[in-house]
Parts: sequence; C-alpha cells; structure tokens
Amino acid sequence: MSHLDVAIAGGGIIGLATALELAAAGRKVTAFDKGEAMSEASRAAAGMLAGNDPENPRELRALARLSLALYPEFLSSVERLSGVRVPIRTTRTLQGVKHATASTHILSEAEVQVLAPGADTTGWHFFLLHEQSFDAWDLAECLPTAVRAAGVELRDRTSIVSVRENKTGVHLDTTAGAFSASSFLNAAGAWSPQLDPSLPVVPRKGHMLTAELPGPVQMDCVLRTDNVYIVPRGQGRYTIGPTLEDAGFDKEIYADRIHGLFQKAIDLWPVLRDARIAETWTGLRPGSDDGLPILDRTGDHRWVATGHFKNGIMLAPGTARVVSQWILGAKPSIDLSPFRCARFDTAAVSS
Ligand SMILES: Cc1cc2nc3c(=O)[nH]c(=O)nc-3n(C[C@H](O)[C@H](O)[C@H](O)COP(=O)(O)OP(=O)(O)OC[C@H]3O[C@@H](n4cnc5c(N)ncnc54)[C@H](O)[C@@H]3O)c2cc1C
Repeated sequence: MSHLDVAIAGGGIIGLATALELAAAGRKVTAFDKGEAMSEASRAAAGMLAGNDPENPRELRALARLSLALYPEFLSSVERLSGVRVPIRTTRTLQGVKHATASTHILSEAEVQVLAPGADTTGWHFFLLHEQSFDAWDLAECLPTAVRAAGVELRDRTSIVSVRENKTGVHLDTTAGAFSASSFLNAAGAWSPQLDPSLPVVPRKGHMLTAELPGPVQMDCVLRTDNVYIVPRGQGRYTIGPTLEDAGFDKEIYADRIHGLFQKAIDLWPVLRDARIAETWTGLRPGSDDGLPILDRTGDHRWVATGHFKNGIMLAPGTARVVSQWILGAKPSIDLSPFRCARFDTAAVSS
C-alpha cells in the first residue's frame, strides 16, 4: 500500500490552494478528485473577491482580510508555476443597497451613470468598492498545472470512498486502491459530509449565465445588488448571477431560472436587452448551517476545510495559509474559533 505524506480529498480551489502551501513548505502532497480538478463550484464561480460586500457575515472579516492580502502572491505563484496569467478583469464594484448608512458615501446619479451607463438605479443607493474580480474559468484552466509543477500529485477521477484514522495516520480507501497517509484534509466542498458525516454542509445550487453585447465595451465595473450581479469579462461579455437554491446535487440548467436571472439583470442594467445569452451553467456551493466556513482539526491526523459557500474563491488563499499552518504544527495566524465545528454543538444546546 502506498504511503502519502498529506492526502487531500478535493481538487477545488480550497484543496489545491492548500496543496500549494504545503508543497511550498516541503510536504509531499497528493490531492484526489472524484472528477476533474477545478470542475465543480470553483469553476462555476463569478470570481468576485467580495471581501467588503455588506452581505458578508462579520465573522468573515479577519479571514477575508488575510486572504485578500495574500491574493497577489497566490496569483503570481500560479502564474510562475503554470506559465499562464490569470487576468484581473475588474477593479471596481458598484454596490447597491436599499438603505444607506451614515458612514457610506452614496454616489450621485451622475456618478453612477459614469461608471455604469444606463443603469436603472430606481430603489437603490450605490456606493463604490475597490474590489477585484477575475474569471474563475481562467484559474480553473491553470491551477491544476501550477499544482503539479509545484510537485503535488494530482489524481483526477479518483474518489476517496472512506477514511479511517489509526495511531500513525489515516487509511484511505479510494477507487484506485488503498493508501495510508500521515495527514488528511477533507476539502471535498459540497460532498465533504460523505467523508465526515457529522459536517452540517449541503449543496446550495446557483445558476449563472454569460451574456454578450455587440459593439464597444459599455461597462467595466461590477454592478451588484443583493438581488443580482453583472460582472464584466471584457470584449462585451458579462457574467450574470446568481440563483440560490436548495436542490440537492441536481446540476441541471432550467430555462425558467436562467430567464428569471437574465430579467433581473436587464431590470438593473436595461442595456442588456440587446444581449445574447452565450453560456449558461450551474454550480454547487458548499453551504454550512450558519453560512460560515468550517475549518477544523477533526482528529489527530485529520482536518477539514469546507463550507465556503458564496466566498470560497475570495477566501481560498487565506484558508490555505491557516489550514496548512495547522497541519504543519504551527499556530494558525488568525483566530479560527468562529469556524470550528464546536459552534454547531453550542447552537444545539442553546436552541
Ligand atoms: C454560482 C456560484 C457563484 C459563485 N461566485 C463566487 C464569487 O464570485 N466569489 C467567491 O469568492 N466565491 C464564489 N462562489 C463560491 C465558490 O465557488 C465556492 O465557495 C468554492 O469554489 C468552494 O471551493 P471548494 O474547493 O470547497 O469546492 P469545489 O470547487 O466544489 O471542490 C470540491 C472538489 O471535491 C471533489 N470531491 C468531492 N468528493 C470527493 C471525494 N470523495 N473524493 C475525491 N474528490 C472529491 C469534487 O469533485 C470537487 O472538485 C460561487 C459559487 C457558485 C456555485
């Protein structure tokens, strides 16, 4: 039976970003994916690094701050290792809110129209965030190459079927045979409870579409409300999302959902009436009971990093840093208590 230093279940952004950190620290890492790496939620994402979205829970702040600070280093190491650059597509977001707070600088209608010509602002107050986005498909194309170049063994189309802890590590049964490993990380996204059944994580489905507008580029900043977002991709392409649905592991694309989403985008930015739908897709966010990530040590040799819900792209470098610190025996550089499994026991006792 082959022995692995660190085994990771899941070749999404959380598993692969952590694999990169551990490889940089000299660990021999093997990451398994039941399908192709970066083909699930991490490819479906809009790619917004929305660390300052007013919808974000307060508990995310420290992890978001760390992750955003690590992003330039993360993308440049992916570029160095893969030879492919992930271009930043937008650097500004117009965030719409129903009720303005005193501390927010609300833009005038004229200011909004400069940034998003033609936007229908009825019922919304907009403010400006200096926030970046990239195309998740760009990262999905090069992160697996980067990880392999860093010395990580990436085993696509290999499911981890079960994990048993013993005195010295873990025993893994996979569809490619049995392995032992000194440490194990469950980063299997929406599927993570299949390996740790007590995890309160479910798939939260999102429909997305990309629309194409003929002619010159008409908007180069993200236009976002709590209802819909429109993310420019360059060359007249705009990614529109999302829906939020509880549909189990169903990934089918339904016409009424796409139609509803597109209509919301047209209501916000009527310019899109002239657009054609170029692509449609769905993805399954890993959603925990309280919507926060679950980052924890679940045994002497086992860790979990899942439940990143709407923000897993933004939170990946920070998650990778703290989880790898923990696996390497160091103290994680931020307080992870909001993300530990014990919070669900407390909720059960107090309810
Ligand atoms: C529509 C949509 C829009 C989003 N937009 C954004 C955004 O703009 N910004 C942002 O920050 N986040 C966004 N997100 C959230 C983000 O995509 C997720 O939080 C993130 O991708 C989760 O990463 P992950 O690695 O945990 O999961 P995944 O990418 O789903 O990866 C998990 C992997 O584990 C594999 N796996 C599962 N079980 C096993 C097993 N037993 N053995 C081996 N492999 C296994 C799967 O095949 C999968 O590849 C969005 C998500 C969706 C769906």
